[in-house]
Amino acid sequence: MQTPRPAAAEVARQVNAQIREIAESLAAQGDESHEYTFFCECGCLQPLTRTLSEVTREGSALAQGHPASRPSSRNEQQEKEPPPLEPLPST
Ligand SMILES: [Zn+2]
Repeated sequence: MQTPRPAAAEVARQVNAQIREIAESLAAQGDESHEYTFFCECGCLQPLTRTLSEVTREGSALAQGHPASRPSSRNEQQEKEPPPLEPLPST
């Protein structure tokens, strides 16, 4: 199926979560200013160089101007439900 973006965004979030875990364990050893490579969580998977504190502050890793794609926790005002089927007028 051709749904690369949501899947890629999910992959990016999971990979970034792993990187953050590693970075946090290293930060505990006083390596807080080290820069890691994260992947843009909008789904484009652009590599981003961020420190742990930057990603923690922003809550996610996103390239400049890229929208966060969180289908479950975000109001998608552009997505509309299809209109209900109207019964055919009986003549
Ligand atoms: Zn992106």
